[in-house]
Amino acid sequence: MPTPLVSKRAPIYADVPDEKWNDWRWQLSHRLNTAEDIEKVLHLTESERKALQTQGLFRVDVTPYFISLIDPEDPNDPVRKQIIPVAEEMNAFTAMMEDSLAEDRHSPVPGLVHRYPDRVLMLVTTQCASYCRYCTRSRIVGDPGQTFNRQDFEMQIDYLKRTPQVRDVLLSGGDPLVLAPKILEELLTRLREIPHIEIVRIGSRVPVFMPMRITQELCDMLARFHPLWLNIHVNHPNEISLELAEACDRMSRAGIPLGNQSVLLAGVNDCVHMQRELVQKLTRIRVRPYYLYQCDLVEGSGHFRTPVAKGIEIMEGLRGHTSGYAVPQFIVDAPGGGGKIPVMPNYLLSMSDHKVIVRNYEGYVTTYEEPTEYKSHDPKTCKFCQSKRPEPGQTGLTGLLDGDQMFIKPEHFDELHNRDGIQHRLKDENKWKPLGIGSGETD
Ligand SMILES: *Cc1c(COP(=O)(O)O)cnc(C)c1O
Repeated sequence: MPTPLVSKRAPIYADVPDEKWNDWRWQLSHRLNTAEDIEKVLHLTESERKALQTQGLFRVDVTPYFISLIDPEDPNDPVRKQIIPVAEEMNAFTAMMEDSLAEDRHSPVPGLVHRYPDRVLMLVTTQCASYCRYCTRSRIVGDPGQTFNRQDFEMQIDYLKRTPQVRDVLLSGGDPLVLAPKILEELLTRLREIPHIEIVRIGSRVPVFMPMRITQELCDMLARFHPLWLNIHVNHPNEISLELAEACDRMSRAGIPLGNQSVLLAGVNDCVHMQRELVQKLTRIRVRPYYLYQCDLVEGSGHFRTPVAKGIEIMEGLRGHTSGYAVPQFIVDAPGGGGKIPVMPNYLLSMSDHKVIVRNYEGYVTTYEEPTEYKSHDPKTCKFCQSKRPEPGQTGLTGLLDGDQMFIKPEHFDELHNRDGIQHRLKDENKWKPLGIGSGETD
């Protein structure tokens, strides 16, 4: 039997009338951010109290709805750890960075990250409904002084208009769903005026922090901008409440395909069995697990980091063990701006010229006999090959497989291997003689 979905309210909110509790504006204006306020809901630990009293820490704010999901007696509650700061946030660690994904370097205009050939990340606000302690963008998020303004927005739209290769715009921030409804609508309208933008996506934790924001009115508005996709961010089954389920149901009925992105966090969700429960519970509310991220090397999140091996172990415990729809991809977002890299257990064990050896999730090892008479399709008569859209700058592995390129060299490869001017001698064939094997020559 599946665990029933529950609805919770911390005792201090028992007397709040339902109209207020269910009003997202009330939730936003009653967020908790001081030790004094939070103490009314939870018994703070020394480490939490110290962090809450420290100046200059990444912003703290929690909606009454979300803090109510915490078991106040449990200092290790998985919801608590995501939003209540601890003193360990102040610890530095090896390889810690402020902008670990080098997003700023990939921004042609402020707030627009163009890292991949056909899609962009558009940071539309720095504000969120509550603040995740491990935020990858804590360098800008939460800071009321770092908002994107109209001029930045016009520059972003202008860049998109003159960049026809962009067919997918991912709205993020901060959280796009905390924008004033009129602003969000204007933003979507302006994007939809650009003919080459095929899909718009929203990355939002508002449904999780404040499901009451997902009103029917909002869903009707979003539905005018289809095809529109939305990813939520749930890390633990305790976040899947009755309210979240209802909010997701409203979005699904509005035709918005829903996905989930989680971050693998020590002490929150670094357990195979918990992850299985999480992904199954997500599919029950019609949210498809999309990505499970390795924690970024961002300041303040050292205590949340797990070895990459933990993620591999989790993927091993999901694939095959539960519905394929419920299995996310485990992603390491490469530090330095390398982008998202999927990582998984090895299923391909070996190969010969006619067979591959593969294993399944149970450890059953089998062979797949390769065809002996395979004729590849003919790119000269294939209309997709003939009309393939150019991917500017993509001369990587695709270039090796698909183009005339033979190798990829690390930077300075030629200089390094030009030992004693070999390249120079190669060019001048008269001067160069191969060393005769065993000829006794010494130069
Ligand atoms: C994550 C991300 C995207 C979207 O990546 P998908 O794998 O298509 O979901 C796009 N741009 C940037 C900069 C990103 O970090």
